[in-house]
Amino acid sequence: MTLEQLDKTYVLQTYARDYTNFVEGKGSTLYDENGKDYIDFAAGIAVNSVGHGNEKLVHAICEQAKKIIHISNLQVIEPQAKLAQKMVELSGYDMGVFFANSGAEANEGAIKIARKYGETRFENKRYKVITLEHSFHGRTITTVKATGQESFHTPNFSPYPAGFSYEKSIADVYKAIDDETVAVLIELVQGEGGVQPFDKEEIQKLAAHLKERDVLLIVDEVQTGVYRTGEFLASNLYEIEPDIITLAKGLGGGVPIGAVMTTHKDVLSAGDHGSTFGGNYLSTAAGLAVLDILKPMYDSGAVDETIVYFSQKLKEIADKYGNLFEKEVGLGLMRGLRAKSAQIQTDVLKNAMHEGLVILKAGRNTVRFLPSITISREEIDEGFKRFETAISTL
Ligand SMILES: *Cc1c(COP(=O)(O)O)cnc(C)c1O
Repeated sequence: MTLEQLDKTYVLQTYARDYTNFVEGKGSTLYDENGKDYIDFAAGIAVNSVGHGNEKLVHAICEQAKKIIHISNLQVIEPQAKLAQKMVELSGYDMGVFFANSGAEANEGAIKIARKYGETRFENKRYKVITLEHSFHGRTITTVKATGQESFHTPNFSPYPAGFSYEKSIADVYKAIDDETVAVLIELVQGEGGVQPFDKEEIQKLAAHLKERDVLLIVDEVQTGVYRTGEFLASNLYEIEPDIITLAKGLGGGVPIGAVMTTHKDVLSAGDHGSTFGGNYLSTAAGLAVLDILKPMYDSGAVDETIVYFSQKLKEIADKYGNLFEKEVGLGLMRGLRAKSAQIQTDVLKNAMHEGLVILKAGRNTVRFLPSITISREEIDEGFKRFETAISTL
């Protein structure tokens, strides 16, 4: 059997898969089984924050694996405690951390914290969570329901939990709040929805209003977190103080990890929430290494320089190929080109793969770029060279 046949026979077919067989990666370059190289502008959907084969990360994982990979959360876990401390320090918020294994699970934890807050802190029960259209919050039954895209709420998986509603814009959130609303859950840059950042002042105004009303602000930073937007958290960039923040993708550099951070440290008590794997030795040792790699790059200005360089290159493309793209969108290393049609989006992705460049889709017509935070100038240059070749025939 070929690998494609093997996959199609034994793996449930839930993805529209490409069958390029990658066997190795170094930095932001991937190699397939035939030795062909690809520039990686996708980073495993914002997961490989420090690229492939990063020596520090690999070393930390190997050393930890030799000692202990996992015990249980019934014992204290040193790298978990240290990672929590580091995340809290880098965030600048007075928060506590719960570790899970994925973005959806982190959001589940956030919703549980909000629900208990709503149950225990008010005369009347508050349980409603407002989210936005075009949002994405995960694939569990609850986070699918929290996701503001009608197509996700198929009757195939119903009934869904009650209490979720969606607004078209930030401005619409205000009038949707009632005395049963416990939280507003948003991304600051909608990733899957089309790499759409919200206006900073508008977000700050909403954050202040929610604080006044004692409605929790939950920021889903599963994609925007861990320096993706140029700051440790997008919440830092937007200069707001959320009640709850969720993280996942970039935090473990590829090792599965999710996290909920909250200022409401006393809402959950023993037995309220848990995870067998969450925050184990291996994933938190990886998380510590990732932050040890990225923090000095942030401090030295290297992250900012990469962002400026990448966005200039992307802007040149957007200007030059006005026939294909409406505009450039996004911020930090979370960028997109709004294609003039869904067909262009599809063709660009297909051609790029052929030219040796891995990029992503977002929404119905956005070509998305999520390179590693550690991507080099040479890789950026080479990637855009290939991108231009890929689109030159369209
Ligand atoms: C990817 C993503 C999720 C879901 O994360 P999983 O690890 O796939 O469960 C949730 N929210 C946002 C904003 C995401 O980008």
